Amino acid sequence: MIDTQDKIQKAGIFQIMQNMEHEQLVFCNDDATGLKAIIAIHNTVLGPAMGGTRMWHYSNEQDAIKDALRLSRGMTFKNAIAGLNIGGGKAVIIGDARKIKNEILMRRFGKFINSLNGKYWTAEDVNMTSKDMEYIRMETPFVTGVPESMGGSGDPSPVTAFGVYMGMKASAKYVYGKDDLKGKRILVQGVGNVGSYLVDHLVEEGAEVFVSDIFDDKIKAITQKHKVGVVQPDDVPSFDMDIYAPCALGATLNEQTIPQLRCDIVAGGANNQLDDERADGNRLKDRGIIYAPDFLINSGGITNVYYEQIGNYNREKVYQQTERIYDVCSDVLKFAAENDSTTHEAALRLALKRIEGVGRIRMTY
Ligand code: NAD
Repeated sequence: MIDTQDKIQKAGIFQIMQNMEHEQLVFCNDDATGLKAIIAIHNTVLGPAMGGTRMWHYSNEQDAIKDALRLSRGMTFKNAIAGLNIGGGKAVIIGDARKIKNEILMRRFGKFINSLNGKYWTAEDVNMTSKDMEYIRMETPFVTGVPESMGGSGDPSPVTAFGVYMGMKASAKYVYGKDDLKGKRILVQGVGNVGSYLVDHLVEEGAEVFVSDIFDDKIKAITQKHKVGVVQPDDVPSFDMDIYAPCALGATLNEQTIPQLRCDIVAGGANNQLDDERADGNRLKDRGIIYAPDFLINSGGITNVYYEQIGNYNREKVYQQTERIYDVCSDVLKFAAENDSTTHEAALRLALKRIEGVGRIRMTY
């Protein structure tokens, strides 16, 4: 597995790309709109690179680059394990979406995507909506997750949440002997697109649900809809829960948080939950906490937009395919236990097997 703690400044960008096996990194700058974006293409063995666009107020450029590199690499494995014929890519836009996101910015970004001629296809990620995809579509065909009124598949996050729910139930079955979540104390960290749909499933099943978010309006929206407890962001790692569902940003499973965790299972929708794949995967294993690999159980959304991308969208088929996450997750947890590996490594092996077979290449992990 790759140590993503590499310091970009120290190692140099090409060295990091080499270590993480990226194909291409594209910097997009437009003074007129103030757009600063990075498109990272990790691997195109299985098809054109595909993965959503994230907009975030990164505190520095290094953090944005690191995020783009880590997220795009994760997409390669996610798309492979989900059985899709697409490679891994991801884009990040630097800036506060609540302040600077507008039609002009999105359309300029769409032009940059268009300049790659279909090597990278985008969709929604953090702080992006199907309305934004509509603006991007005005400038390029290489975008999915556009509104259904425009012939697209709409917001992928309900499907992502459904897949996470399947992965969580498979993990519960593995740990508790049955997949019933009724009465389980489950904390959903981040109640944005994915987190709030996940809460719907959990409440419906009768789980005791707790939520946490950094924005009051998100907490207000979910507490108005459901009877759920609220946990302050800083209190999340040490909260007494059965299942922890990270659905905000990545790296919430790290050297500081893992020793504090009081849960049996981690199963959430956020990308790149492990700060350091190997070390943090092992920390969870050593503590006996079952970790449902993020890139496996959050692949419902990319499955949804994939069928839009190939021009064969069928919601029923998408949900059927996403439901299979339950079985794949069960197999991965079993394989990891039998082979004394982390669950993350077990899932990576499965994804790599497909890429290496199709591409007749060897990859590092
Ligand atoms: P979103 O922006 O709609 O929601 C993220 C939420 O997390 C927001 O409400 C935000 O306020 C909150 N948040 C941020 N930092 C937090 C913190 N420290 N503590 C608590 N809450 C915090 O994004 P989303 O589309 O729901 O995506 C959530 C995660 O799932 C991301 O990691 C994304 O990459 C991943 N993901 C999303 C999809 C999808 O279909 N949208 C698919 C696969 C993976």
